[in-house]
Amino acid sequence: MGSRLLIRGARILDPAGGLDEVGDLLLSDGKVAAVGVVDAPDASDGELLVLDGKGLLATPGLVDLHVHLREPGDEYKEDIRTGASAAVAGGFTTVCCMANTSPPNDCRAVTDLITARGAAVGLAKVRPVAAISMGLAGEALTQMAELKEAGAVAVSDDGHPVENARFMRRALEYASTFGLVVVNHCEDLSLSGGGAMHEGEASTWTGLKAQPAAAEEVMLARDLVLCRLTGARYHAAHVSTAGSVELVRRAKEEGLAVTAEVTVHHLLLTDEACLEFDTHTKCNPPLRTEADRQACIAGVADGTLDAIVTDHAPHTDNDKAVEFEDAPFGVIGLETALPALLRLVEQGALDLPVVIERLTCGPAACFGLDAGRLAPGSPADVTLIDPDLSYTIRPEHFLSRSANTPFAGWEVRGRAVATIVGGRLVFRWPDGLVVG
Ligand SMILES: [Zn+2]
Ligand SMILES: [Zn+2]
Repeated sequence: MGSRLLIRGARILDPAGGLDEVGDLLLSDGKVAAVGVVDAPDASDGELLVLDGKGLLATPGLVDLHVHLREPGDEYKEDIRTGASAAVAGGFTTVCCMANTSPPNDCRAVTDLITARGAAVGLAKVRPVAAISMGLAGEALTQMAELKEAGAVAVSDDGHPVENARFMRRALEYASTFGLVVVNHCEDLSLSGGGAMHEGEASTWTGLKAQPAAAEEVMLARDLVLCRLTGARYHAAHVSTAGSVELVRRAKEEGLAVTAEVTVHHLLLTDEACLEFDTHTKCNPPLRTEADRQACIAGVADGTLDAIVTDHAPHTDNDKAVEFEDAPFGVIGLETALPALLRLVEQGALDLPVVIERLTCGPAACFGLDAGRLAPGSPADVTLIDPDLSYTIRPEHFLSRSANTPFAGWEVRGRAVATIVGGRLVFRWPDGLVVG
């Protein structure tokens, strides 16, 4: 017998299996062995760790389809070790990392490096998203068969949109022959023009160069037309406008093979957060209006949006300590996603099982990942959440190498208190990472 872990008396919430009840969870040899009422296993059968789950939620390990881990190339912002540490501290057991590193993940050597580093670090499972185009330049397709074989779970040039419609068509056709989903960052650059925030009432107050909702919607609409043409699997990254949510809703009604995600910050914040020129509110797509935020919440509630992601995009204090228009786009989110979303639950905006679904089996289904459920035989990835733990978000306590969060100083309730990956306890609150 290998090592075993028993969680006693937690509220087990497994949306994939329609399970929401107080019970026990036995993990053995890296798999879920039993759910429900579990007889005490014979201690002489090998190592057994027992965790008291009283008052805690036990959910499938959280899955984030969209993070930037900055390795290789920009390890001063984050690397695979610090990023995977931040992930497990936030309750995420699987993270899919985007290809816009330096060099980009457009060839097997880089995919292999990310996969090997992720495995060596041994915290959250690190699943690479490979590039669509060589050098993210939108001209030549990558060798997708080889990238998939090396572990790529999807393809995306995220950070950049796929600008050329003919190239996007070819990418969709090519990726679909390997069963890879194409993920696009929808932004018509001729419309967005490098705008630092959303174009609307708030931008007239700041006087900042702004980008309209249409910059996102025009490209998303194009992509959906190309999905109809090719029949290929497509995933819309960080949907952020009411118009985009409606486009995805209609595409799904039509039966197109489309899935979509929304970020935590677009569910919590609006462009009014930019009024004080805080560069920690500068992200792309930009924070939108309250009507857009409400439409995104409705999209999560009705299943139009399959996944909630962080788009964790680390930048150092130096990177961000410049004028708003000069600052790089992006905020981090792995260590704040859960408490931020629990606030929406507390406000009654979303139901807890829906939020957990969009963080587990919802995203797993988008990329076909073997994750996000607690049925016996599933990988033993589990997150234990204390929904009542109150605290203040302090970036100096993050395990991420960067601190660029818009949630600093927020008084929140709820956090991951134990994160289990492959049956191994890797993070425990307040002790931190569990080593060895
Ligand atoms: Zn993006
Ligand atoms: Zn991104």
